[in-house]
Amino acid sequence: MKYLIFLLILSLSSNLSTNYQLSKKAFAIVEGEYEKSHIRGHVIFKQLNIFNLHVMVHITGIPSKLGPRLGFHVHKNGILNPLANTTVRCESAGPHYNPLNRPHGNISSWKRHVGDYGNMVVHNGTIKAQFVDRLTRLHRPFNIIGRTVVLHEREDDLGLGADKNSKINGNSGPPIACGMIGVWS
Ligand SMILES: [Zn+2]
Repeated sequence: MKYLIFLLILSLSSNLSTNYQLSKKAFAIVEGEYEKSHIRGHVIFKQLNIFNLHVMVHITGIPSKLGPRLGFHVHKNGILNPLANTTVRCESAGPHYNPLNRPHGNISSWKRHVGDYGNMVVHNGTIKAQFVDRLTRLHRPFNIIGRTVVLHEREDDLGLGADKNSKINGNSGPPIACGMIGVWS
C-alpha cells in the first residue's frame, strides 16, 4: 500500500513538472523613440518554479529629463501594430494585463493587476533591475508569453492617487518603449 501511494505521488509530481516545463525562459526586445532619444533594451524572464518568475530588465537611452522612476507593466496583448510610431505601436498592446479584474496596484500587493511591475529606477539613462514576481508566469494561469512589456513616461503612483486613473494605470503616462514577450527555450 505504501508503495502504491509512493508511485501515485511520483506520477503526480512528474505530471506536474511536465506540465510546468513548457517554457522556462522568455524574452522581450524593448524599443522606443522619445523625442530624439532611442530607447533600447531587453527583458529576460526565467520561471524558477511554478510560483516564482525571475525578471531581469536592462534598458538604455532614457532621456535625462525623465525619471528617476518610471512605470513598467505587462500589457494584455501582443503588439498589434508593429510598423506604427512608438506611441501607437505600444498602445496597441492594450491595457495592463488584468485577468483577475482587480484595481491597479504595486507589485508587492495582492490587490493589483497581474501585469503590474511597479516602477523601474533610472540611473544615468539606464534601467538595470532584477526582481522575482509571484503572479506573472510563463505558463497557465497568468501566462505572459505573447503579451507586451511597456515602459512609461512617468512614475507609477501604484494605485494610491485620488483620481480614477490611478486605479486604472497609476497615472504613468504614455508609453515610451515596449517589446513583445516571446519564448526563448
Ligand atoms: Zn496596472
